[in-house]
Amino acid sequence: MNRSRRYVLISHCLLNVNAKVDGYGLYPGALEPLVLPLIKSGIGIFQLPCPEATFAGARRWGMTVEQYDIPAYRRHSRWLLEQVVDQVEDDLANGVSVLGVVGVDGSPSCGVDCTCYGYTGGMIGGGDAVARSVESGRMGSGQGVFMKVLSDMFKERDIALPFAAVDEENPEELFWNSIELKLGLNSREG
Ligand code: SF4
Repeated sequence: MNRSRRYVLISHCLLNVNAKVDGYGLYPGALEPLVLPLIKSGIGIFQLPCPEATFAGARRWGMTVEQYDIPAYRRHSRWLLEQVVDQVEDDLANGVSVLGVVGVDGSPSCGVDCTCYGYTGGMIGGGDAVARSVESGRMGSGQGVFMKVLSDMFKERDIALPFAAVDEENPEELFWNSIELKLGLNSREG
């Protein structure tokens, strides 16, 4: 069978929910409404590494974009993405269609149109740090740190790819056909 020579890059946890912050996740393993149609339509799935699990581990707390937007985390993201962007650049140069990037809205790392803000940090159990953090947490428009680093790296290499994200708060936004529209693939592919 001929290969399709097409793929999408997708955030790690969309194929492996176990990477998410402990206690969070809407599906047992991979996000079926996104992944099954991709498999059925012969589109390759390029799983990005999880920047948070590889930076802070499985026992990390949920954090916000301000907490992750620090030099060490941006450097970690860039380090993880260097070989990914190398592969994308080489594939594009060799006639492979890279259809775009699928992130996770609301994530401080993988959000594309929406991320989470707030959290003051501080000692758990000391003073009112936890109460202040919970009070200050909010969702808002903006990019997560990892997606920002990835889009910067693409720009540095003159690679133009569309970005879209699943919205786990909205069940209709979990399906590949919704993401396909957001990526503009229907119009691009005729
Ligand atoms: S950092 Fe990205 S890949 Fe990792 S759990 Fe969060 S949204 Fe998923």
